[in-house]
Amino acid sequence: MDHFSFINGALHAEGVPLATIAAEVGTPVYVYSRATLERHARVFQESLSGLERTHFAFAIKANPNLSVLSVLAKCGFGADVVSGGEVSRAISAGMKPGDIVFSGVGKTRGELQAALDKGVGQFNIELEEEGIVLSALAAAMGRKAVAVLRVNPDVDAGTHAKISTGMKENKFGVPIDQAGAIYTRLSALPGLDMRGVALHIGSQIFDLGPLEAAYAKLGGFAMDLRAQGLTVDRIDLGGGLGVPYKRDEVPPPPADYGRMVERVSKGWDVTLMFEPGRVIVGNAGVLLTEVIWVKPGVTHPWVIVDAAMNDLARPAMYDAWHDFEAVVPTGERMVANIAGPVCESGDTFAKARDIDVVRSGDLAVFRTAGAYGATMANTYNSRALVPEVMVDGDKWAIVAHRVEPETLIAAEPLPDWLLG
Ligand SMILES: *Cc1c(COP(=O)(O)O)cnc(C)c1O
Repeated sequence: MDHFSFINGALHAEGVPLATIAAEVGTPVYVYSRATLERHARVFQESLSGLERTHFAFAIKANPNLSVLSVLAKCGFGADVVSGGEVSRAISAGMKPGDIVFSGVGKTRGELQAALDKGVGQFNIELEEEGIVLSALAAAMGRKAVAVLRVNPDVDAGTHAKISTGMKENKFGVPIDQAGAIYTRLSALPGLDMRGVALHIGSQIFDLGPLEAAYAKLGGFAMDLRAQGLTVDRIDLGGGLGVPYKRDEVPPPPADYGRMVERVSKGWDVTLMFEPGRVIVGNAGVLLTEVIWVKPGVTHPWVIVDAAMNDLARPAMYDAWHDFEAVVPTGERMVANIAGPVCESGDTFAKARDIDVVRSGDLAVFRTAGAYGATMANTYNSRALVPEVMVDGDKWAIVAHRVEPETLIAAEPLPDWLLG
């Protein structure tokens, strides 16, 4: 459910016509709905309200915009971060350092130190050497870093290969058959306070079966550790729940997910941690664009829009589908290809798609663009960095300015031996 709907034939974000935003900010532009963010946050939390102890850490790589993070912080979310930059963002947005979980397979020594300095609440360790280095850094400060060990459960999440992370050939976590020995050694280090285990097996997951299998494996492993006298009071179940990108897609309802978690975690007696990303922000954003041309094609016309793969990379990267809708549809339909201006054939959003009839100058949206959208944007082809807007009822504001090519050009000094 989201708050992008037609009022008198024109698509609105909550109470604001998208045409108003396009006129004042220009296109392309991402538009987020605060009410949708809050609704998704609440539905997710309520689905897990039957659990005794929980911690919610929004995976901010899905949408690191400060205003988005600020809304989620007010909903009681901490952050799951994967870089020093994301630590800074989470804190800038008002999240408590103690509510931040630092994940990621390549944290540098500098990032570990900075996170310790800032008081990050939990480190999810991906390999034994990382734990040894973290222990040394924390011990040098006279501290113990709270940590959990990320385990690779070797479960196929049944999603796209580029967003699967829980199979033994993936780079993430330590193999479950070695994890016991590693956990035991890390628990003995002076600068670590080992508190439990974590996993994250992939993203855009539609089948709860693999998730449940992975959780059961991790829980069994954690109970073995505890039976050996080791401390286990946190189990981090990662993120990964899917969202509908097509109108007829039905992802697992959060309530079903909640019941599954309750069933599988019975008797664990731990704080359960969750790192949802996409499921919170996916449907809370659209990418608003203007049609530049409708170019005749051999099989179908090409709708050339002013958004491109640099603004929304998912179709080019993962063959992802985003619904395309006219902001003021006429009711007529056409079959067309949709592409951006970038000089790559990969800059194609859809092929032979049944869409609203659009003409040059018309506004349209790509739906479900709130997750892994603006966060992956770049300036390829010397295009501007796409701006972002947030709507709240009848109010709206720019929450990320467009970064013009001139600003980027100014950041590229010419060496004096090239001048003249
Ligand atoms: C990306 C990521 C998430 C969030 O995944 P979603 O599919 O967006 O829910 C959670 N945890 C970790 C460690 C991640 O890398």
